[in-house]
Amino acid sequence: MTKLIKNGTIVTATDIYEADLLIQDGKIAVIGRNLDESGTEVIDATGCYVFPGGIDPHTHLDMPFGGTVTKDDFESGTIAAAFGGTTTIIDFCLTNKGEPLKKAIETWHNKATGKAVIDYGFHLMISEITDEVLAELPKVIEEEGITSFKVFMAYKNVFQADDGTLYRTLVAAKELGALVMVHAENGDVIDYLTKKALEDGHTDPIYHALTRPPELEGEATGRACQLTELADSQLYVVHVSCAQAVEKIAEARNKGLNVWGETCPQYLVLDQSYLEKPNFEGAKYVWSPPLREKWHQEVLWNALKNGQLQTLGSDQCSFDFKGQKELGRGDFTKIPNGGPIIEDRVSILFSEGVKKGRITLNQFVDIVSTRIAKLFGLFPKKGTIAVGADADLVIFDPTVERVISAETHHMAVDYNPFEGMKVTGEPVSVLCRGEFVVRDKQFVGKPGYGQYVKRAKYGALMADQDVVKMS
Ligand SMILES: [Zn+2]
Repeated sequence: MTKLIKNGTIVTATDIYEADLLIQDGKIAVIGRNLDESGTEVIDATGCYVFPGGIDPHTHLDMPFGGTVTKDDFESGTIAAAFGGTTTIIDFCLTNKGEPLKKAIETWHNKATGKAVIDYGFHLMISEITDEVLAELPKVIEEEGITSFKVFMAYKNVFQADDGTLYRTLVAAKELGALVMVHAENGDVIDYLTKKALEDGHTDPIYHALTRPPELEGEATGRACQLTELADSQLYVVHVSCAQAVEKIAEARNKGLNVWGETCPQYLVLDQSYLEKPNFEGAKYVWSPPLREKWHQEVLWNALKNGQLQTLGSDQCSFDFKGQKELGRGDFTKIPNGGPIIEDRVSILFSEGVKKGRITLNQFVDIVSTRIAKLFGLFPKKGTIAVGADADLVIFDPTVERVISAETHHMAVDYNPFEGMKVTGEPVSVLCRGEFVVRDKQFVGKPGYGQYVKRAKYGALMADQDVVKMS
């Protein structure tokens, strides 16, 4: 049966207009006024914005880390994402040195299959470049549609790759049509600083921030940009948290390099002082890069506004306070890194960004959806409202006020880092490929409904055959 969304205000990355949307076979079939209602299910969106479903380019669901596993898996994580107005996620598939990439990808498929309630794709972590890895990469792109590779410049002796690996990944990505993503922090110096802090008896959560100063994020970002220039390749810097990193990205972009930057809601509204909360509660705010001094927030907002940073990811990586974060009592280096952010990503950007006049409504859609779709090979199938695109839609009430709380969120964790924060605007209903996942703020989706998405190469559009031919 077709669906007709009436009386809403359509918002895309470029336009704002009043129109109705007819949805057929999971796609947007007609956009217009006074469309024929007969034989369709009518959904009234009066007073609401209708924008393309959010795309979260940065999630870690069901991921082993620091001797434990993230609390949210592909079921609870995607349900929470949907409540927050996200209809596609791209999760990081971890690899192990010496193991075929194919095996790692299979592991990730098994985590998601039958569980996800919205669509999903994968990025692939590159931990080493060997002949075997180089031989497998074309297949990863052609057969799996995985067109983005992640390299860690931090987490020494765990995930960290050396500069040679980063450079060779950049070269391979350029050749094959992939986007290289970096976690840009100087892992070697951080390793020294953390060991020294522990030797000096500094064990509290705040030392997580003090041993990973912003200079080390700026340095690694600059190094990655320089290697990108040398390789004539393309780079996406994940979770940019500080002025030093923004400066390096802006410098590279001013030179005309294909360098892109993502920030996350936590860096826009929380600061380093949260790590000093008493009774070990600072551990709730331990992730990497760490929260920064408050003045960095304005730099990040300005960078989003003027286009130096282009996207917002959640870096969802959730651990309970009780039993998981607590593993680091007495040693901040043993606190599992990460936070539950997936659900509030879109709301926080709307409330703090659009409502407070820091960015425009069109920029908001671009930052949480459209630009991400374009960079990661999902556009125009996803990331916009256009005839033939997937009917991934958010019906959003921009006036309702709510307070973020662990008591009401849908993530599986026992705390919310934004606890008590008032936000304006909330998704009322969320559709993925034309089917409701959330309807009138109730979950009506189904685990397993979410489909794996094979993405196009960097710079390419989703193939024509994937876009419905209208009769
Ligand atoms: Zn991450």
